[in-house]
Amino acid sequence: MERTINTPALISNDRIVSAGSLWGFGSVEEALEAADGHIDKDKLFIPPHVSVPLHVEPPVDLPQIETDGPCGLVVHPFFLDEPYPADVYIMGAAGSLRNPRELLKAVLEVKEKTPPDSALYAPALATPANLALLVYLGVDLVDSTRVVVDGYLGRYHTHDGTWNIEDLRELPCRCQHCRALEEEGRPDQNPNPNLRMISDHNHLKLEEEIRLVREMIRRGCLREYVEKSVRVTPEETATLRLLDQEGRYLERRTPVFRKNVMYSNTAESLHRVEVARYARRVLDRYRAPECEVLLLLPCSARKPYTKSRSHRLFAGALGSWRKRIHEVILTSPLAVVPRELEEVYPAAHYDVPVTGRWDLEERDWLLRCLDAYLERSSYKKIVAHIDGELREAVEEHGIDAVYTGGGTNGEALSRLNAAVKEAAIDASVLDQKRLRVRAVTDYFFGSNSGDLLLAGEVRIKGREIQDGDKKTLATLTPNGTIALSIEGARRLEPMGAHIVEIAEFLPKGDVLSPGVIDADEDIRPGDDVIVRGEKAFGVGRARMSGWEMVRATRGVAVELRRVEEV
Ligand SMILES: [Zn+2]
Repeated sequence: MERTINTPALISNDRIVSAGSLWGFGSVEEALEAADGHIDKDKLFIPPHVSVPLHVEPPVDLPQIETDGPCGLVVHPFFLDEPYPADVYIMGAAGSLRNPRELLKAVLEVKEKTPPDSALYAPALATPANLALLVYLGVDLVDSTRVVVDGYLGRYHTHDGTWNIEDLRELPCRCQHCRALEEEGRPDQNPNPNLRMISDHNHLKLEEEIRLVREMIRRGCLREYVEKSVRVTPEETATLRLLDQEGRYLERRTPVFRKNVMYSNTAESLHRVEVARYARRVLDRYRAPECEVLLLLPCSARKPYTKSRSHRLFAGALGSWRKRIHEVILTSPLAVVPRELEEVYPAAHYDVPVTGRWDLEERDWLLRCLDAYLERSSYKKIVAHIDGELREAVEEHGIDAVYTGGGTNGEALSRLNAAVKEAAIDASVLDQKRLRVRAVTDYFFGSNSGDLLLAGEVRIKGREIQDGDKKTLATLTPNGTIALSIEGARRLEPMGAHIVEIAEFLPKGDVLSPGVIDADEDIRPGDDVIVRGEKAFGVGRARMSGWEMVRATRGVAVELRRVEEV
């Protein structure tokens, strides 16, 4: 469009030109002819479409209509093959999506079958209470149809739910429309409320909500906001839970790190992609060091744990014995955090209400992860410096360990020191710096990539990894990721992971998605990637998932850091 619309957005009728439903024309030919005169580069053009209820298969297939300007295509979520290319896909009969399973299925169907760089428009569905959830599901455009119509039916919308105006003794909003309404008298005693004003209030609340949602997206905390917002109805909460159960849809779209703190305030937080991904990578990709003694520690409010008062006290108590043991932190919701991965998102970026209580779901998740972790490792002894319900959970589960009782006072720290000293008396010293680099590399690039990066003569200076000629191979970033140099990328290239194949050109600046020929399906936004083509070899950071780079026809795929001509 000539004027930009930043999504998610509330789209108004004056930005749309619709040729209308096929049923309004005498024949298909007549409808297609009518579509010809409707081209305006600043309006979304919707060609003639077949309007049918949600579960009715459209009886006619209309041919594709060529347009010069932005085009919106009406699609029927449950009868969708390969839709024609369009800028916006409009979900037919979206307004009748009420059931959580149906809503989820409809959105996922359309999103999976349409290009990632097109927008999804769900008409007549949004309310101030469900808007955040709709956007989180992947809806980019909404309108105020539903709330405006509801206003004329005496339905009063707020961010916290919907009421019949005659049930309200006072109005919770003080906008100009609500003030005017109250001037007519108490809403529950007014037989003829001004419905137009209710409608205007509803529209205003939806506008406010879309602004708030966009701000949450900018801050990277839409998920937290959705976890809170869905409490308005059991249906919305069910939709979020079903979405989390589905798993794959969100996983394919979730970046590997964010700058903001991840709040784990609700039961749903335990099922976030970030939590499941961290646990899975620790169990699948991470390899515990060959070490005799495992020390289990509790988490701390301050992150990374190393910087907290309690962990500094533990380190002090361990003294030089610390070099001979392996530390793992037990925490909710991440379960098992090896010390080497404590900076990796979200281990250094989460906050959880600390009460000392571990509910049954948290316990179950922790113990399942711990069992799986221990099964893959070869420790001979475990020292558990944990207390309270955490200790209770681990001990009752039958983990064979020396339980020191936990704590940070002098006596507690002496017990920690004594237990570790006794366990680690014959243990050999570990190369902690090297283990950290190996763990972080494996976490992002897959098992064994760390050994490949660290092969031969390698020096680790602070956060930098250098080869024998002092050339930088990679850098551990403060975000908890690892950034490869060209030399480092050459070492990892044979693994075949995180490779973006580009066409025959030497990119300058960023790699745009039309230049991408193929990309590793596992790449997620924020991942470090290796860019490879006939004329170029480089490294950069992914701005899209690998599958999106391949399917999208616009947008930045990779922010290049270094590139060389080949
Ligand atoms: Zn109001």
